[in-house]
Amino acid sequence: MRSITGDGVRTALSIVRKALEEPGPAVPFEVREVPSGTPVLDWTVPREWNVRAAYLVGPGGSRVADVADNALHLLGYSVPVRTRLTLDELRPHLFSMPDRPDWIPYRTSYWNENWGFCLADNALRALPDGEYEVVIDTTLDDNGSLTYAEVVLPATEQPPGGGEPGEFLITTHTCHPAMANDNGSGIAVATELARHLAALPRRRFTYRILFIPGTIGSITWLAGNPDVIPRIRHGLVLTGLGDPSEPTYKRSRRGNATIDRAAAAALAETGEPHRIVDFSPYGYDERQFCSPGFDLPVGRFGRGQHGEYPQYHTSADDLSFVTPESLAGSFAIVRRILEICERESVWRNTSPYGEPQLGRRGLYRAIGATMNRQAAEMALLWVLNLADGRHSLLDIAERAALPFASVEAAVDALAGVGLLVEESAGARNGGQA
Ligand code: ZN
Repeated sequence: MRSITGDGVRTALSIVRKALEEPGPAVPFEVREVPSGTPVLDWTVPREWNVRAAYLVGPGGSRVADVADNALHLLGYSVPVRTRLTLDELRPHLFSMPDRPDWIPYRTSYWNENWGFCLADNALRALPDGEYEVVIDTTLDDNGSLTYAEVVLPATEQPPGGGEPGEFLITTHTCHPAMANDNGSGIAVATELARHLAALPRRRFTYRILFIPGTIGSITWLAGNPDVIPRIRHGLVLTGLGDPSEPTYKRSRRGNATIDRAAAAALAETGEPHRIVDFSPYGYDERQFCSPGFDLPVGRFGRGQHGEYPQYHTSADDLSFVTPESLAGSFAIVRRILEICERESVWRNTSPYGEPQLGRRGLYRAIGATMNRQAAEMALLWVLNLADGRHSLLDIAERAALPFASVEAAVDALAGVGLLVEESAGARNGGQA
């Protein structure tokens, strides 16, 4: 029974904590509570909502809707009600989807006091006339709090050229109850990502993974962390990663930040159908991170977008709608986006006057066996030509229309024979360069 606040969120976060405690490197997992009434940017942390029971009893005495059967039956943030009403009096409080008559819709009313039940349209239309008993045993507590969790995995290295390591922000929303793709999938992938990142031998960035309620969670975090915000170099909002649609990246408001280019490179490398869509001020928490005052280099990764698939915000977004293959594919792409951001760097050719003799250094032999030979040679030539201390790996991959992996391999080979040296972290700044 999750929402933007309440014990359902705490229970969900305790499940994440348990998953992070499975054998493997320790993952620091901090649950934070922000008191109701706290002013956060233009908003206020709401009263904490909890549900003890909520059901609707029909004239025949049987329960026609009960949150014990499905959390979606209750309008999110319903105020407490105990009353008897005729069907006509009840109707304004009943929600269904006539075009999908077997599915229960997901509805909330966080900011306007209301109460209601969500039902399959077939069930709604079968309700007989008569008197109904409404029992909504909820609490809205002024002394409650908003709960979120944070994993922080510090960078293991100083940036070349000194200074403080930047941060990579990854967020996923925890507020949607009982739906698998939106957003059990985001919580699952973020959890696995935390385990993966904790196991890395080297991290150039500090990774901060937030499990937050949508909208008010990112606003609360942004309001409470003004010192962290200037350190954010890249960010990703993870939502809807388990459905069968093609992988979809939504660009940051900046449009050409390193994260936007790294995501495009990672998706291109898959060789599979995918989509890259431009920023728009509609969607999930990227709306807050990309609001004009912050304008952070934060994109969104997922598959089917909100409203594009019929199961969206309904009881049909269940475990049959997400597949292990889609989840694993999404995880692999996110991991690769992070790797590319880690790897993005600027190098300088140490032998820039005329082409250096590659054969003499064994470079053609080194690359011959492992990959497409012609592409590998082209990558060597492009890297040597553009590694002038001004172009980054992404610049080279884009200009040469080569996979990022080929450019990476060429840099490794050339650095291995002393033909390249790394410059200071010129391009690791979220795309200012
Ligand atoms: Zn949603």
